[in-house]
Amino acid sequence: MEYSIGIDIGGTKIAAALVSETGEIEALRTIRTPPEGRTAIISALREITGDLIREAALSLKQKPVGIGIGSAGQIDFENGRILSGTPNISDWNDVPLRQFLSGCSGLPVWVDNDVNVMTITEARLGAAKGHKNVICLALGTGVGGGVLADGKLLHGAWGGAGELGHVSVDMFGPLCNCGQRGCLETYASGSGVAARMRDAWAKYEDAPKTPAYREYREKGGRVTSEDVFRWMKEEDGDAASVVEQMLLALSVAIVGYVHTFNPTMIVLGGGLLRDGEWIRAGVAERIAHAGMTSMLRDVSIETATFGTESTLIGAAMQVWMYQTNADADSAATGK
Ligand SMILES: [Zn+2]
Repeated sequence: MEYSIGIDIGGTKIAAALVSETGEIEALRTIRTPPEGRTAIISALREITGDLIREAALSLKQKPVGIGIGSAGQIDFENGRILSGTPNISDWNDVPLRQFLSGCSGLPVWVDNDVNVMTITEARLGAAKGHKNVICLALGTGVGGGVLADGKLLHGAWGGAGELGHVSVDMFGPLCNCGQRGCLETYASGSGVAARMRDAWAKYEDAPKTPAYREYREKGGRVTSEDVFRWMKEEDGDAASVVEQMLLALSVAIVGYVHTFNPTMIVLGGGLLRDGEWIRAGVAERIAHAGMTSMLRDVSIETATFGTESTLIGAAMQVWMYQTNADADSAATGK
């Protein structure tokens, strides 16, 4: 059984582990993302990979076959470089991560966006196992996307393809932080759902006399998507219309992706789907009679099999996904 090193770089923590071809996690290391930024993060990554290489030699009697990294932000996939990372990590733009890590480890290194590697996890081991044409949507603070087309992850010119959260479903809709109006993210992300709830209340001349609004005022004007989903289940009318808007936005966007990419499955994941079977069911119901029948007929909507560990596992899976034929040949011949 081969192992590779998977690394998940997030705004608050970095997780790294030896991951087997079949997705088992061994020797998991988790550290707080160093707040000092670039230099401290790179030296932490060097230390952690060195540690995992030693661990593999000691307990598995082998050398990991490569290093795969998943990170939030925009990634130059061709060159293994972080172009712009998350605003939560200081000085984390234009970082040649492959160059740094392959230099110190002697191993091949792949770097990709966290939702792209989540797509790999779901397609190789999860809900979309066996499918070659898959769209993954991660609904969290924002909305991220990944596109598997003909068995390959779609990267575009340099790796920016699949920003599915920034496809507009309403050109007169709310302004998105990407600069466009009505992006899917403004309706179907955690921050978008909360913002639409505040919009729904702002349309009243007098403050609404509902328990939901009272709770919102008592919390000092703070609202989360969890609050909105709970109020919807408690039959608050404003929350219900915000949720309906979210499901409709998702359905319109998904019909667009289906027309564009002709997938057989849509996988919904991310924090909003944690207790989100009702979101999956709501979307499936709404797209059943939308779009071109021939295109939509056989598309299934599923929730992701993997949770928070999907970035770590998918990061590691990149190594087997992209190993060159030469490597595959030498592995096959044992040379
Ligand atoms: Zn946008």
